[in-house]
Amino acid sequence: MKFRPRRYQCPRCRWDFAFRKKRCCPGCGTLLLIVSDVPTDAELTEIKSFWMWDPVKEKWDYIRDWEEHKREAMRKFEQRWRTALVEAKQKLRPLTRSGAFGTF
Ligand SMILES: [Zn+2]
Repeated sequence: MKFRPRRYQCPRCRWDFAFRKKRCCPGCGTLLLIVSDVPTDAELTEIKSFWMWDPVKEKWDYIRDWEEHKREAMRKFEQRWRTALVEAKQKLRPLTRSGAFGTF
């Protein structure tokens, strides 16, 4: 089997490439981060706005403000978690009402 590096297309100049130069597009120099770059939080905070590869959606995501992006992600996560918790409680309620613990 021949190894074929994944190809990306620059979201700004449409340059098709497999390898970046110093995390940047070889065509226009735009900073393009992929997961394997493992940038630190401090680094991202300093850069603030950048393109980040989403391996699930297979496209570039533009992060306008890293701090804000983090807050938004946290809020969404919290919301989802709370919804799941409420749903779990609602599922439990009819059980307790019908006397699941009444057998003791
Ligand atoms: Zn480019």
